[in-house]
Amino acid sequence: MLSADERSAFEESIARVRELATRALKSASGANGANDAIAFTAQLHRSLDTVAAQAAAAGPVPDCKAGCAHCCHVRVEATEPEVFRIAQHLAAQPTDSLDGAIARLRQHIANANNGASRQPCSFLVDDRCAIYSVRPAACRKAHSLSVQHCATQAPQIPQNLRLLLDAEALMAGTALAYRDLQWPASAHELNAAVLAALTDAAAQERWYQGDATALGSTSQN
Ligand code: SF4
Repeated sequence: MLSADERSAFEESIARVRELATRALKSASGANGANDAIAFTAQLHRSLDTVAAQAAAAGPVPDCKAGCAHCCHVRVEATEPEVFRIAQHLAAQPTDSLDGAIARLRQHIANANNGASRQPCSFLVDDRCAIYSVRPAACRKAHSLSVQHCATQAPQIPQNLRLLLDAEALMAGTALAYRDLQWPASAHELNAAVLAALTDAAAQERWYQGDATALGSTSQN
């Protein structure tokens, strides 16, 4: 629970990110249309990685290690530009690799439709993220100060509050900047949204034209 002062500082951070990101996104958007707007999301991801590294250096140090994938078994959400960035990354892979990714996405969604509430993300391969360089902001923000809490699926995972607040200000401010420029940026379930982006060739352009349903409804499963 934040104090009134902390809440006010948090809202100011969001407004600051929104203003800076709107300006930067406008100037980054050029002849490449939707691709420029999508590529801009890499700036958010770099900022999140910096915030996470700074928080780890200042302490407390997260208990997360490579190969530990507890947080890759819960629902993950991503915005439209993040989803299209992942889809572009996958579409540039060799055909058999892309086909494998699509098959895993379909299986994941079928499992979810059959009631599976906890299953590995379809991009988790041998306990490593197969799309690590383009993974969404939610995954970059995710951390735990106690792997024991993750392993036992504790209802509350201890986290670094400073990191959470800085990361959420970056994410919320950037999403608002996209929306200010009429490009939808809302939470979508990662697996279903990436499959929609990969299998609907017109989705990216519809999004760029302002269609908030280009990847289906928000927060879908
Ligand atoms: S995208 Fe990568 S980091 Fe995020 S949940 Fe999936 S496997 Fe884990």
